[in-house]
Amino acid sequence: MEYNTGQTSDAVRRAWAVSFPAEPGCPNGRTMYIVLARKYRPQTFEEVLGQAEVVRTLTSAIAGGKQAHAYLFSGPRGTGKTSMARILAKALNCEKGPTPSPCNECAQCREITVGSSLDVLEIDAASNRGIDEIRSLRENVNLRPVRARSKVYIVDEVHMMTEDAFNALLKTLEEPPEFVTFILATTAPEKIPPTIRSRCQQHFFRPLSMEVMKKALAGIAEKEGVAIAEEALERIVDFSAGAMRDCLSVLDQLIVYTSGMQIGVAEVEALLGLVEDRAVEQLLLLLRERSVDRAVALLHQLMREGKDPGLVLDGMVKKLRDVGYAVVGGGQECSGGREFFAQFASVPLERLLDALSETVEYKERLRRESLQVVLLEILFLKLVKIIGKTEQDTPRTAPEPPAPAAAHVVLEKKTPDPASPAHPESLSPFRRKAKAPPAAEDTRAGSQAPDIPFGPEEWKHLLSGVKKRSKNLEAFLKEGRPERFADGVLTVHFSVSRKFHKTSADTPEHRKIVEEVLSQMAGRPCRVALTLSDETPKKLLDQPDVREAISFFGGEIDRVEE
Ligand SMILES: [Zn+2]
Repeated sequence: MEYNTGQTSDAVRRAWAVSFPAEPGCPNGRTMYIVLARKYRPQTFEEVLGQAEVVRTLTSAIAGGKQAHAYLFSGPRGTGKTSMARILAKALNCEKGPTPSPCNECAQCREITVGSSLDVLEIDAASNRGIDEIRSLRENVNLRPVRARSKVYIVDEVHMMTEDAFNALLKTLEEPPEFVTFILATTAPEKIPPTIRSRCQQHFFRPLSMEVMKKALAGIAEKEGVAIAEEALERIVDFSAGAMRDCLSVLDQLIVYTSGMQIGVAEVEALLGLVEDRAVEQLLLLLRERSVDRAVALLHQLMREGKDPGLVLDGMVKKLRDVGYAVVGGGQECSGGREFFAQFASVPLERLLDALSETVEYKERLRRESLQVVLLEILFLKLVKIIGKTEQDTPRTAPEPPAPAAAHVVLEKKTPDPASPAHPESLSPFRRKAKAPPAAEDTRAGSQAPDIPFGPEEWKHLLSGVKKRSKNLEAFLKEGRPERFADGVLTVHFSVSRKFHKTSADTPEHRKIVEEVLSQMAGRPCRVALTLSDETPKKLLDQPDVREAISFFGGEIDRVEE
């Protein structure tokens, strides 16, 4: 079985890098889209986000006339190192300076802003041209600045320099001409020789906090007149892991992708291939119920949809962490809502932590190993042992309502089936039925057996048919899940947290589209019913007498009837 494992974050980032023109303006005079990272690049120290300490040290040194000859800016990508370097260059060369508040209006400031200053030279040490530029640096470093007060060399990715280049740089740093300032920027300070580091004033840039990024992103979206949902902002910030530039690149893409429409979580997830919260919850619930088989089937489905295995693990880590906090916090609800929390609230904290560290470890291993899906399946087996339900588990909160007396379980006598081989197309170590069980298959009391199979394949088919008619409707509809298909009526269920999606999909016009696609699929007139509830499903299977019956008959649940 071949999977599209989705784009890695790096691949996405590379794709962004080439999606937009590098320079603003357009030769034939049409207005061209200017990427947000460029448009909103900070131009003063005050505008730099989240690096208050660095700003304070730099500005007070400039105000006191105590500049260094060499600075080393280190920190993760997208945290503002190059922007800060340019502002520092302006502070040193502004015609009204040196000043901690460069005017941004004089010739020097303006030239630095657009990158045309002859005295402020930016070198990318990682590029081929950068190597040549560093070679010529030593010959030219003693030449006085052309127009500015001082000559500033901004060397980006300085850790990529060759040994020769480092030696040349070291000689210059040992006896720097008084009019030269070096600003070295790096994401890997440990790769820079200590002899260089010790001659620089070092500044550490922190990853931006979620709050800072969210606020900035919301502000920029507002200035751009883009309507974006709060939750969508959070997803983007989450994905960007502290790098503002990535945040803005995602917003750039979304503006194009949605052509100015409201941006919601569905759009962000569609763009980034993020794994929906609900799918992650479902995975963990299946593991809690010890249904490795169904968890693996769901995993394979996610892979077929092009989700990234790393993002599946990210989602699981986040959920387990939320549950951990909720348990420590004395039973307050976690982000997963009532049913999810009720299922996990009874897991002892130490087991949750074990599950969490196991998942984090596999996340690391995922980077190094190639059989990613198999790796995840092995993790699932381990997690079942850790968080799977045991006899001792007693619910801490949210007691389950008793199962209705009228319900009974239909058991199918289990007979070994030697003719059924391991899944032929799969690398999976698990025996599985030839057709994966539908993810929405429900063995709980209350749901009827479908009269026509309506599994993930059919659901996907329906969604893609709907998508051809209305992209928005498809985005709303896929937040629900097919509950049953009986008597020509497809019931699609939405959880309360998806009320907005349900309401949006449940208009006469939208229902008509779904029904037309569905009727075409079924070859007869069909209807669709959208339902909404947060009713906690009855845990019939947890009833002691039901368990006893199952173990007595040695069977497995075929279906549950009222
Ligand atoms: Zn100026």
